[in-house]
Parts: sequence; C-alpha cells; structure tokens
Amino acid sequence: MKFKKGKCLCGHIVFEVQADPIYMVNCFCRDCQIVSGSQFYAAYGVSLKSGLINLSNEPSSYRIISASGRENTRKFCPRCGSRVWAEIPELDLASVSGFALEDREHFKPTINYHTKQAPEWCLIDTTMTSYKEQEILATDQSD
Ligand SMILES: [Zn+2]
Ligand SMILES: [Zn+2]
Repeated sequence: MKFKKGKCLCGHIVFEVQADPIYMVNCFCRDCQIVSGSQFYAAYGVSLKSGLINLSNEPSSYRIISASGRENTRKFCPRCGSRVWAEIPELDLASVSGFALEDREHFKPTINYHTKQAPEWCLIDTTMTSYKEQEILATDQSD
C-alpha cells in the first residue's frame, strides 16, 4: 500500500503508517469514549512492529490495563494533547487515530466494537459487522 502520513493538531507529532490496516473500527468501549470525547473512537489498526513509524518527537504516554486485561499504552501529543495512537504489544497492534491521517477518505470503518456500551440514542450502522463486547482480536488471535 501507499504509506499514509498522519499528525497531531499542532504538528509536533508526525507519523506514518507503512502497512495495510488489520482493521478499521469504530470502538464504543468506555475507555475510547473518554479518550475521544465522542460515542466511539476511530481506530485504525496496524502492526506495531512493522506498520507504524514515528517521524518526529516522542509522544507522551499513559499506560493502562484495558478491560480485556491487556497492557494498552495511549500516546498523545505533549503540546496540543491530541491522541495519536495506542500500543498493545501483546497483539503487536498499534491503534492509530483514523482521522489523524492526512487522507480523510482512507479511514473507512467496517466493524463496530463494544456496541453494548454505545448510548441508547446512538444509531449503529447495521451494514457493518458489530460486536457487542468482544473484540475479534481477542478470539481470532492465533499466533
Ligand atoms: Zn500536537
Ligand atoms: Zn475501545
């Protein structure tokens, strides 16, 4: 694929995705809602080891253990606070902010995660595959 550049609001953090996405997901989990300030977070999953290159300054980090029990280090710009990606080493996964990519047409979600945590008023796109709570990676991870 063609490499895709992304950045934070102020440009202090610039990165590039250099692999095809593993998934493009709207994640409705509570953590993602708080981080994004919206009903879901636009998550663009690529390989952490080979799919994401930081081209700039070091982002700030906040490490948590997610509801799935995995280490999840959320990365954000120390200047403007934009969330740029999260690292889940156990799954070799970088969950990049889909709309931080320069090419806004590139992020096209096909899956909804954790729809059980969506607010009642929220319309879930029924043309997309939806998972009420479990992430596919939690069950499909074979290697
Ligand atoms: Zn910034
Ligand atoms: Zn989430």
